Amino acid sequence: MKIKFILPALREAEDPFWRPIKYSLFPPLGLATLASYLDPGDEAVIVDQHVESLHLDDTPDLVVIQVYITNAYRAYAIADHYRSKGVYVALGGLHVTSLPGEALAHADSIFLGPGEDIFPKFLRDLRTGRHNVQRQYVSRNRTLSATPPIRRELIKRHLYLVPNSIVVSRGCPFHCSFCYKDSFFAGGKSFYTQAVDEALAEIDRLPGRHLYFLDDHLLGNQHFAAALFEGMRGMGRVFQGAATVDSILRGNLIEKAADAGLRSLFVGFETLDTHNLKQSNKKQNLHKDYDKAIARLNDLGIMINGSFVFGLDSDTKDVFKRTVEWATEQGITTSTFHILTPYPGTSLFRNMEKAGRILTRNWDLYDTRNVVYQTSGLSAQELKEGYEWSYREFYRWSSILKASFQHDTLRHIAKHLMYAGGWKKFEPLWNFIIKARRLNHMLPLLEGILSQVKSKTNIAQAAPRTSPFETIKPIS
Ligand code: SF4
Repeated sequence: MKIKFILPALREAEDPFWRPIKYSLFPPLGLATLASYLDPGDEAVIVDQHVESLHLDDTPDLVVIQVYITNAYRAYAIADHYRSKGVYVALGGLHVTSLPGEALAHADSIFLGPGEDIFPKFLRDLRTGRHNVQRQYVSRNRTLSATPPIRRELIKRHLYLVPNSIVVSRGCPFHCSFCYKDSFFAGGKSFYTQAVDEALAEIDRLPGRHLYFLDDHLLGNQHFAAALFEGMRGMGRVFQGAATVDSILRGNLIEKAADAGLRSLFVGFETLDTHNLKQSNKKQNLHKDYDKAIARLNDLGIMINGSFVFGLDSDTKDVFKRTVEWATEQGITTSTFHILTPYPGTSLFRNMEKAGRILTRNWDLYDTRNVVYQTSGLSAQELKEGYEWSYREFYRWSSILKASFQHDTLRHIAKHLMYAGGWKKFEPLWNFIIKARRLNHMLPLLEGILSQVKSKTNIAQAAPRTSPFETIKPIS
């Protein structure tokens, strides 16, 4: 059987703010994972439209398309095209799981939830004839045990800055109201991990030093994470990942991660306001000392990518300045700002829909850069302008310098400058490297920047730092 896996480009690819480098980081690991269930005699190809051209003049036996909210219309057009030629088309992914009725109009079959149990069943059905295939496959049995090795040879490594992306768990133990996670994992377990040995074996198969864990919460299962980091000690890896504030503060897991090679962490601070945290059901951040978590990461030489959401109901006009100043004063290396976006399938969407606050169902606008709902403490224009101002302000050279000088050694300051500056200030150079198809040549530089730095102080000796904002202090 000839199978074509497609990741259509997000709508933002036509945007003036489009940054090719941002979408040339990670290969489509999910599609390469599905490909591992094919038979040895099958012919498979993966096309990622963010980094290569998609040709539509072929007629494979099966097309599988991964659908996100802002590539949904493009994905449907591609699906319609192939179906008109008689090709069997299957759709899966976050948006399909949120809105199966919408996706079904463009597919022969759809997959709801993760694919490990349903994709092999779908393939078995299809091999016995189209009439045996169901319209809808719903994932129920969630496990990562004994999954076949990901078909990484189908990934065009040279087109990505971070070809060694890896996922060793699925989901997350928390339930934030704006997150897709609960909808995607409805009907079964919503957080589970690989066996430690299998995760270590997968790491061992990856060439080079650098890894990027794409897990929603790498420290989410303490026992698993501790054993994983123990197994990784001495492997000489440097890695990046994501975790929550509470997991950074708990026990000594973060020290174990640093010992194993953790050099930068994506942290969902989201908001500095406790009312907003409650509105978002972000319980894991409530009453947690953000400053202490940051001091701990800084002390371990772990760079921080802070995530922030603007437009929650308690936000007022000063939220942008307060947030940017706080992030800069805390020495956060990079920040990702978002306009609150009620994705369909989330409890945030349901609540807003009930309250009549959803202003548009044009999914192209659900890219966290546009206001798609009736705001509360801010006007839509204030929100949009404040969001754009925050990016500009945080990534001014003066702000980057100020944030980098929060660190106490020259090496740490230099590392901050190179990482933040390199990420945001050399766009033409990145574009040139992408066009020259030499992105993978930048990996040694990234590995060099991620080399270990030590702080002069340690967490036990660090002076307590207080937040400039009353709102982020715990409420008793
Ligand atoms: S912690 Fe992150 S991944 Fe987990 S539910 Fe919240 S937003 Fe989603």
